[in-house]
Amino acid sequence: MILATDLDGTFLAGDPENRLQLYQLIATHPDLCLVFVTGRGLESVLPLLSDPTLPQPDYIICDVGCTVVEGKTRQPVAAIQSRIEQLWPGEHPVEEALARFPGLERQEVPQERRCSFLCEPDAVTGEIREVVANLACDLLYSAGEYLDVLPEGINKGRTLRDLVEHLEVNPEDVLVAGDTLNDLSMFEQGFTGVCVGESEPALLDATQSRARVYHATLSGCGGILEAIAHFGFLGPEGLAAEARDILKPGKSDLVIVYHRLPYEEVIEDGQLIRRRPTSPNGIIPTLLSFFADGKAGSWVAWSIHEPGQGAFETHTEVDTRRYARLRAARVPLSKSDVDIFYKKFSKEAFWPTLHTFWERASFREDHWQVFLKVNRLFAERTAAEAASHAVVWIHDYNLWMVPAFLRELRPDLTIAFFHHTYFPSADVFNVLPWRREIVGSLLQCDYIGFHIPRQAENFVDVARGVTPLDVTRRVGCAPRFLTYGCAVGLDEMSAEIRVNDRHIRLGAHPVGLDISRVEQALAQDAVQQRMTELREQLDKTRLVLSVERLDYTKGILEKLEAWEQLLLQHPELHGKVTLMVVCVPAAREMTIYRTLQSEIEQAVGRINGRYAEVGWSPIQFFFRGFPFEELVAYYAMADVMWITPLRDGLNLVAKEYVATQGLTDGSGVLVLSEFAGAAAELRGALLTNPHDPRELATTCYLALAMQRSEARERLQKAFETVTHYDIGLWGREFLEAVDEGRKAQRQRLEDARQEIGSVA
Ligand code: UDP
Repeated sequence: MILATDLDGTFLAGDPENRLQLYQLIATHPDLCLVFVTGRGLESVLPLLSDPTLPQPDYIICDVGCTVVEGKTRQPVAAIQSRIEQLWPGEHPVEEALARFPGLERQEVPQERRCSFLCEPDAVTGEIREVVANLACDLLYSAGEYLDVLPEGINKGRTLRDLVEHLEVNPEDVLVAGDTLNDLSMFEQGFTGVCVGESEPALLDATQSRARVYHATLSGCGGILEAIAHFGFLGPEGLAAEARDILKPGKSDLVIVYHRLPYEEVIEDGQLIRRRPTSPNGIIPTLLSFFADGKAGSWVAWSIHEPGQGAFETHTEVDTRRYARLRAARVPLSKSDVDIFYKKFSKEAFWPTLHTFWERASFREDHWQVFLKVNRLFAERTAAEAASHAVVWIHDYNLWMVPAFLRELRPDLTIAFFHHTYFPSADVFNVLPWRREIVGSLLQCDYIGFHIPRQAENFVDVARGVTPLDVTRRVGCAPRFLTYGCAVGLDEMSAEIRVNDRHIRLGAHPVGLDISRVEQALAQDAVQQRMTELREQLDKTRLVLSVERLDYTKGILEKLEAWEQLLLQHPELHGKVTLMVVCVPAAREMTIYRTLQSEIEQAVGRINGRYAEVGWSPIQFFFRGFPFEELVAYYAMADVMWITPLRDGLNLVAKEYVATQGLTDGSGVLVLSEFAGAAAELRGALLTNPHDPRELATTCYLALAMQRSEARERLQKAFETVTHYDIGLWGREFLEAVDEGRKAQRQRLEDARQEIGSVA
């Protein structure tokens, strides 16, 4: 069976509930062949293909019948399209022949094998018709404004008939749907058809006497549903039996969707034990704090469970004393799925691309399929947890496809997403083979947060390459953020976009610190003891500190090379300054980091071999993670914190250093890459471009030579930012922004309702 439908005014129109019902009905009939038949050019259909809420077509007939492609591959159905091509005289001969008619305005939309114009009805003169006939073309005028010049005999109906023959489908099993004269040719082929409600009167007149054409009352999808029922198109069961139920709501008003559980699961003596996370990064406790007032909530995260391992407990308590009505809702994943989804695919395909190292990325379709499977499971769990109209807050790129699956299951939800990593511009992002799906999914959100304005704007840049959109609200970025002062600064950002009838709000929310965690570390005797020891050990040596994970984005090699240059150019530093590098190894499964590790080790060996003296080595290199408390002791002792990622979403280490120095009344200097998100908000840091080896070395030298008074002033500025915009404020501001968006959306719905009321 084939459902061949026009798009604008038909398949894309109608009451949202009818649309959803029709789309779900189609989803439950995989045997139904869906054909889009549209006046749009192919390029203007592509945005619809990345809308996860729309059923995807098996074939697309576009350009009013002049283009016909297979839905998945978008390759032409050669047998039909090459014949059309032969009939077409070419764009320029048509344009030249019609140039003398001032009433014709060429439409600025994609078009192939036809020329499309805008014109008033009285401009369609006999003379124009004659010129078109002399070109061996047809003229089609519709909706009182569109004039198409088409190859002779070609129209939507003719190409559809050719496709039906090509597919060897019985013409009796075709239902066509349309709403303008442009669609008349489909009804003229003798197919069963429906003119949906609010059709162009001329179409209704022209199809009046056709017994197999149904004139529906409801507009758009509602009309198609009426016709399906009227003709019994999907068999005697009809609509009701087939339509999938929208999931019943759960009980949680706020659902956090995060890859990790808010506690750690460890196996001890064969028993699953739950523990507080050993290294909480501040985000988890902050997110938990939203449930401290007794709000009903769920925390959706994965838990390792091998198939066949026995019963799986989906719900577990998190902390009944502190968060009485919060439950963890666990998604069972096998270890191999987790390894592929989290440790391999995300790190090999997405991480490099997001950080603009696209040439290091590798893409595997089989891994993408695992990623989709895992994201679908997360969405299904979330859909089952969320109460009616609840807020769902999804975290990070590992869960990019959750909004797509979730929106389909639960159209009522407010979906918010926070992107924890860098987000690149379209030139880089578009390298991802699945960019349309990913952007289509993110556009199902109501609110998307990024660390800094530049990342939000890059997202808009990417989305604009996938679908037409309007920026409906812009805001200035200063004074909260740097504008022209660093590589990732921006003066103005898009705060709301509209895509079709959806409004999506965007915001910049740099993750903040849990200051009390630094305070608590500093208050520990062991930390004070360690600080004293370090002070003695360092004695007259000044300390430049570098702390980061082993990752090519962090610019460790570049930094080591700059250090080598500095030692070469400034022999007076020998014996007086030490660079201490804390490099946290990657998980064993992350094989892409192995080469980098050996390159770093070689560089350290080379530099130490060249410059070390008895009692002093220029680099102290630790290839292991330090407990947070020990890091804080080093932060307190470091004269210069040298953080030089080539690209970084934010960089928390920079903030931790500022907090520690601020709390200990220090005067350390933060040298920070202008490519780290934190650079856009940490006034006072000495910014550096890590891509420029000379500058990298010079800025470090400047920091070592900086007057104490200037260093203090700079530190104070940065400390104010870090203490004010802490992690608590980050979470509150994010949820407040989500709530504002909800209110605006409610208002828009109310306005629309009133408008319909006043028209009626
Ligand atoms: N960290 C740690 N021990 C170490 C090195 C780093 O606990 O030896 C912590 C550090 O305190 C910070 C986090 O790891 O909170 C790193 O966050 P950042 O945003 O700087 O970088 P990311 O690793 O997220 O790219």
